[in-house]
Amino acid sequence: MAGSAELSARYQEVMGRIAQACRDAGRDPGEVTTVVVTKFHPVATISSLLALGHRDFGESRHQEAVLKAEELQGENLVWHFIGQLQSNKAKAVAQYADVIHSVDRPSLVDKLADIPRTVDVFLEVNLTNDVGRGGVAPGDLLALADRVAACAPLRLRGLMAVAPQEEEPARAFERVLHYREGLLALHPDATDLSLGMSQDYLEAIAVGATHLRIGTAITGKRPPAV
Ligand SMILES: *Cc1c(COP(=O)(O)O)cnc(C)c1O
Repeated sequence: MAGSAELSARYQEVMGRIAQACRDAGRDPGEVTTVVVTKFHPVATISSLLALGHRDFGESRHQEAVLKAEELQGENLVWHFIGQLQSNKAKAVAQYADVIHSVDRPSLVDKLADIPRTVDVFLEVNLTNDVGRGGVAPGDLLALADRVAACAPLRLRGLMAVAPQEEEPARAFERVLHYREGLLALHPDATDLSLGMSQDYLEAIAVGATHLRIGTAITGKRPPAV
């Protein structure tokens, strides 16, 4: 199947670039988790990547993610929820997502307070002045971190951010490092950084990203949303 061969080639190429960027930065590639973002793509895309040995997958819409999770139940994979999350869907997402990258407000944390399993959490920081973008305002970050830390089923991993289109990614990522300093003073274990997408993952590796969220560079162009 030609599509699958192309997918495999893009996957190997991107993974090779990631490994090289890690070596260039003096980092161990083993400390970087690549989350392949499969939103809008069929389950077959995920199955092909599983066959290549990949385990970490990212989805951004609950309606779509839950169906894929059901279909792939029993497979050895790790689901990362990366999209904006409505409070009334939080509990449902926490049933299949092992990691939620997009926690950005206290009401969401409250909904997750009594879930029956441990879920890893990143706090998404908004790097723009547009509140519609999702992400907590930097000024509200520490209060949100305290809230997550006080919530037994949640394990606070660190910060997530999306570089604004109108800014040099490296500069935007530097701001995240600054916010992380403040976070680590209070929550020393929250060291992880979920930064870097298809356009800027090399810059993200250079600043210390531990989680990359890569879609199109591996999967190819996304089919239109349904
Ligand atoms: C879609 C998406 C990605 C992946 O984007 P690509 O540009 O396709 O790599 C990463 N992070 C988030 C939050 C996304 O919604």
